[in-house]
Amino acid sequence: MVPVSEQRERPPVHEGGNLSKPNVVLDVDGLRKSFGGLVATDDASFQVERGTITGLIGPNGAGKSTIFNLVSGFYEEDAGTVRVNGADVTDDEPHEIADHGLIRTFQTPRKLEGMTVREAMLVGPQTQTGESFLALFTSGGTVHEQERANLEDAQRILEQFEIGHLATQPATDLSGGQMKLVELARAMLAEPEILLLDEPVAGVNPTLANKLREHIARLNEAGVTFLIIEHDMEFIMNLADPIIVLDQGSVLVEGDPEAVRGDDRVIDAYLGGPDA
Ligand code: ADP
Ligand code: MG
Repeated sequence: MVPVSEQRERPPVHEGGNLSKPNVVLDVDGLRKSFGGLVATDDASFQVERGTITGLIGPNGAGKSTIFNLVSGFYEEDAGTVRVNGADVTDDEPHEIADHGLIRTFQTPRKLEGMTVREAMLVGPQTQTGESFLALFTSGGTVHEQERANLEDAQRILEQFEIGHLATQPATDLSGGQMKLVELARAMLAEPEILLLDEPVAGVNPTLANKLREHIARLNEAGVTFLIIEHDMEFIMNLADPIIVLDQGSVLVEGDPEAVRGDDRVIDAYLGGPDA
């Protein structure tokens, strides 16, 4: 018998999203998006509780990346609302959503030809944070105080990620795994409250994947909330709690990793998906 005091308040597996969390950073309600005749996001509702590392999993094509694009303002939804820290950001631009504390990374790393790692920290075509980091390259010689501060911040964060020594290397010389680390470091430059990572260890070797896991855990300890899409079950099940399972654009279940892993509905969704 488990003593009452040690019993969990929420059931191990919740059908649909658990929508009664006490301290919500990200609230997604009835989100819908279709591309032509294809419904990618179908009335998706879930909440991310402050301080958690929340996993977002589901078969290929379930609509995970689309949700990130909607939440971060890169796609316009057909219906539904997105709130960050209680503020309705549904119609906001990506940089405005960043100002509310939500930052995301992309499944496919950016093209970084001709840039050093430190420059890649400060600019990028998929930038979410507006012009602030671009000033460095538009000043024509003089490095102003703000620009120097940006460079120092970039260097400090690279060192926190144990890749300070890579700062002046061409970004194109990095391995895929190192690039994922730089993307994470770069996201931290914006001082997010909640960070959305889309497949952070896809194509990353096990050693670097472990490093990434340690860095995510360290940042979470320091107060950053995470919502992580990941295909690597070992990785996500060992890092995230709760896990939200998406299937055909909707939230199927939510629960702790062990319960989700053994849930028949989840197993069926994966077996029925295009990966089968
Ligand atoms: P996941 O990340 O879970 O693998 P996605 O969100 O990338 O899934 O895709 C969900 C569905 O929406 C897929 O069928 C995909 O082809 C489609 N889709 C995603 N983005 C677009 C787009 N920009 N245009 C057309 N179809 C899209
Ligand atoms: Mg995806």
